[in-house]
Amino acid sequence: MIHKNFKNIDKVVFGRGSFDNMAGILAEKRNDPASSGTGFFLFVVDNYFAGKDLLKRIPAEANDIVKLIDVDPHEPTTEQIDALRDEVMNSKGIPAGVIGIGGGSIMDIAKAVSLMFTNEGSSTLYQGLNLIKNPGIYHLGVPTISGTGAEVSMTAVLTGPEKKLGLKCDWTVFNQVILDPELIASVPTDKWLYTGMDTYIHCIESENGTLNNAYSHAFAEQSLKLCREIYLGDKAGQTPENDDKLMVASMMGGLSLTYSEVGVCHALSYGLSKILHEKHCYANCLAFQHLEDYYGEGVRELKQMLVQHNVELPQGLSKNWSDEIITAMAQVAYNLPHMWNHAIGPDWKEKITLETIKDLYKRL
Ligand code: NAD
Ligand code: ZN
Repeated sequence: MIHKNFKNIDKVVFGRGSFDNMAGILAEKRNDPASSGTGFFLFVVDNYFAGKDLLKRIPAEANDIVKLIDVDPHEPTTEQIDALRDEVMNSKGIPAGVIGIGGGSIMDIAKAVSLMFTNEGSSTLYQGLNLIKNPGIYHLGVPTISGTGAEVSMTAVLTGPEKKLGLKCDWTVFNQVILDPELIASVPTDKWLYTGMDTYIHCIESENGTLNNAYSHAFAEQSLKLCREIYLGDKAGQTPENDDKLMVASMMGGLSLTYSEVGVCHALSYGLSKILHEKHCYANCLAFQHLEDYYGEGVRELKQMLVQHNVELPQGLSKNWSDEIITAMAQVAYNLPHMWNHAIGPDWKEKITLETIKDLYKRL
């Protein structure tokens, strides 16, 4: 038995208005003797905040770089990370640190680029577990939409020319995270639901598999309780109390899966993202609704949450997919043995074939 031994975030601040602690936190790091010595920071910020008040509250100094990034055209790519690293290195050298302000996409961009300032060549060389050779630079994450758990995870998921796979190692984990629930208040209802459902699915999948254990279970149990308070019943909805809860649920869901594993839904979701470029959380919802035979109770509950918030998922999508597309997605999903091993068991290859997975996609 291999026991998982993971690194946590070094420091976490939580609370409404805690964003404004950033200036003090960074002041200590700007001229930290352990840093590159250039004394400037790179801020990567979701373009959603262009022209918004939050942008003015970023404690950037004249020498810093604030980069607004549109995360909607595609999930973060290796090419995008390499280009950002090269551009900053060529103009001003290695920053004292990277600060990411945004959702899972921005969290992953901040984590990945912080590693690529100190590791030579393209980020495609490091997609996988423990391939990174040198520790990255200081990096701080500020989530503005909650659910993926990217703020707490040890991976920075990147889509490369060959694979969609994370830069995964201890050094990927943030040095500091600022959890300010005020920042997620502006998330539109559909995204609030899809991203929150990622947390919900993390917990259901973590709980239902061979790797679940008392440690992962405790996080999942609490996170599921919070999800039910946020999304079901009379107190459900986007309220300040629920935003506080969602930020915590996201972290705990992430911790749960870290010490257990995700399962069938995430395997299918990876195929949908890689081949059809569907976004992670939305792709999970598309797949999960059809997995009653794997996660019965969970599927029924998620559907109830969708109904309560008037969000409808499209049906009959697979009618428009060629056999070639379905096969390509099934190949991506099949090549995630750790997920099948957890969800089905060590003998999963006797139960799950490429054909089984193709049939699952045909349900969508
Ligand atoms: P995202 O970062 O892609 O953002 C989703 C949308 O929400 C965007 O349109 C964004 O502009 C908008 N948005 C963000 N904050 C907002 C706010 N406060 N108000 C209004 N709009 C806001 O969303 P995500 O779902 O958090 O992240 C998805 C990405 O995370 C994918 O690239 C996926 O691969 C990655 N991911 C990473 C991990 C990990 O462990 N590293 C885990 C799961 C997913
Ligand atoms: Zn997920």
